[in-house]
Amino acid sequence: MSRRAEIATRLAAVHRRIADACDAAGRDPAEVTLVAVTKTFPASDVRLLADLGVTDIGENRDQEASAKAAEVGAGVRWHFVGQVQRNKVKSLVRYADVVHAVDRVRLVSALDRAVAAERADRTLDVLVQVDLDVGEPDPQRGGVAPAQLGELAAAVADTDGLRLRGLMAVAPLDADPEPAFIRLAELAAGTRATHPDARWISAGMSGDMEAAIRHGATHVRVGTALLGRRPAPQR
Ligand SMILES: *Cc1c(COP(=O)(O)O)cnc(C)c1O
Repeated sequence: MSRRAEIATRLAAVHRRIADACDAAGRDPAEVTLVAVTKTFPASDVRLLADLGVTDIGENRDQEASAKAAEVGAGVRWHFVGQVQRNKVKSLVRYADVVHAVDRVRLVSALDRAVAAERADRTLDVLVQVDLDVGEPDPQRGGVAPAQLGELAAAVADTDGLRLRGLMAVAPLDADPEPAFIRLAELAAGTRATHPDARWISAGMSGDMEAAIRHGATHVRVGTALLGRRPAPQR
């Protein structure tokens, strides 16, 4: 089977899962954006996905993402879903359309300055990542503590260059994702009360997209189910 046929088959299965989950939740599938997470996979896979109609692409490392963005060119929206390092923001804002994991105030001012300096449109969509505080603490997962969420959301909203679009979270990987997504939905509702435009909820991956959609996810970030298993991360 060609790579294109393989991805097309996997994509059809993912679309089916999203449609079924929306059906069960009484939601319109048009409310859910599929972000294809292409980390570790080549730019040629991004092109195949775009060709198959998936134009929202997620990456988690700046070096890999900026190279792929340059190779792929126009026609896709780049979602940076990884932890953001402050020394990478200048590079990041040159290609990213959405940054999903803003989780500290120091990052907000750095991103805002970089947007003013590097972007012609002077604006960047961002999501605040929350640490759902359920299951084992995991520093790799990142995220602001729920108690500090209000302050961080306000900091983003106060900038000229960053548009607060909503919240993002990664559910604990080896625990029931349900309580985490319920908590996220509550925090998202609280955030929306103060920031009415912050309507996005980025939650759900290959293993837990149904639960995320049940609790209001507007963006699911799917890698493995679309592209197959990733090679072990290089250390
Ligand atoms: C890799 C990654 C995903 C995709 O995970 P899969 O389990 O492969 O679908 C989603 N979100 C983030 C933040 C990731 O780093």
